[in-house]
Amino acid sequence: MRAQWTTASHIELAKESIDFMARFAQELGINVWLRRGGYLFLAGDEHTLRLLENGARLHRAHGLATRIIGAGEASELVPELDTGKFVGGSWNPDDGVVFPWPFLWGYADGARKRGARVETFTRVTGLDVEAGAVRAVRTDRGTVRADRVVIASGAWSPSVAAMAGVALPNVPYRHEIVSSEPLKPFLGPLVTMMGTGLYFSQSMRGEIVGGMGDPAEPPGLNQTSSLRFLARYARALTDLVPRLGQVKLLRQWAGCYDVTPDHSPILGETPGVRGLLQMSGFVGHGFMMAPAVARRMAGWMGGARDELFERFNVSRFAEGRFEKETLIIG
Ligand SMILES: Cc1cc2nc3c(=O)[nH]c(=O)nc-3n(C[C@H](O)[C@H](O)[C@H](O)COP(=O)(O)OP(=O)(O)OC[C@H]3O[C@@H](n4cnc5c(N)ncnc54)[C@H](O)[C@@H]3O)c2cc1C
Repeated sequence: MRAQWTTASHIELAKESIDFMARFAQELGINVWLRRGGYLFLAGDEHTLRLLENGARLHRAHGLATRIIGAGEASELVPELDTGKFVGGSWNPDDGVVFPWPFLWGYADGARKRGARVETFTRVTGLDVEAGAVRAVRTDRGTVRADRVVIASGAWSPSVAAMAGVALPNVPYRHEIVSSEPLKPFLGPLVTMMGTGLYFSQSMRGEIVGGMGDPAEPPGLNQTSSLRFLARYARALTDLVPRLGQVKLLRQWAGCYDVTPDHSPILGETPGVRGLLQMSGFVGHGFMMAPAVARRMAGWMGGARDELFERFNVSRFAEGRFEKETLIIG
């Protein structure tokens, strides 16, 4: 989770979310192991460093502690880096990592205590729409009548929306990730290399967990693991941190980024289907945006005004009013 972004909306949503993660234990009674080790974005050339400088100026205008640092200071933060591979970077010590499972359990328990019912292993098979309004959700365990339905199905959102005859522009792309054997703690920040999309951090159990985007990845709901990824990741990682060449990799998996044309979420009303609400398109950052977006969604559904749901309405693509977020990792 990080507040280093290139658009004001993402910075503000991330700040709100991260503030909440710091209060998670008090509010939801479960420790999410928030560790603020910082995020270090590395630039391989001067042009990329200029882009990071522009970002850092915007971050400071939003009250963040982001600084541009040289290769020397980056190697003080992470001495294992090969300083010949980058010219500097963008550093925010307040970014960090949380442990996802207690985060999910905390939300589910909190919702149950407030009267929500959580139905796991229940597949949505259809959405009933009558006279331009959503009426019911059909599932493999029965039909639930509802005049408001939120589509929050991540990379599967376009297929769920299609059940109501709605086309979303989100496209799924596989992203692979891998975990090493546990090592003695040595790595404070999450490190990412601009351009290659390489990123890695050390978990609280000591594993190096990381991934890397692949420009050759075709679109699709593919969640299989590949040797190609392992080879590309291992080369990029050991190029930047030669000492990791000896490390054994233990487990590899994959998920799908839910990619929108402007790398921003799709939120709010669906034009033409009253009561069908959208909450998808979070690319590779939906976990960290969830606290802020979900809290605002609940308030907005309860009648509070919130311009977020206008700005990120799906209609923005047809109307051409969007600003692309460019600081995507992976
Ligand atoms: C490798 C990788 C690394 C990532 N790293 C980060 C990170 O560091 N930080 C971050 O913030 N984000 C990260 N993300 C992105 C993050 O995981 C997503 O943005 C986030 O999980 C989206 O949450 P969601 O609840 O909207 O959707 P999801 O978590 O995708 O949940 C959607 C759910 O809907 C279910 N579903 C689909 N169709 C149906 C149906 N017909 N009926 C019933 N259920 C259905 C699916 O099974 C799924 O459980 C990463 C993603 C990947 C793939």
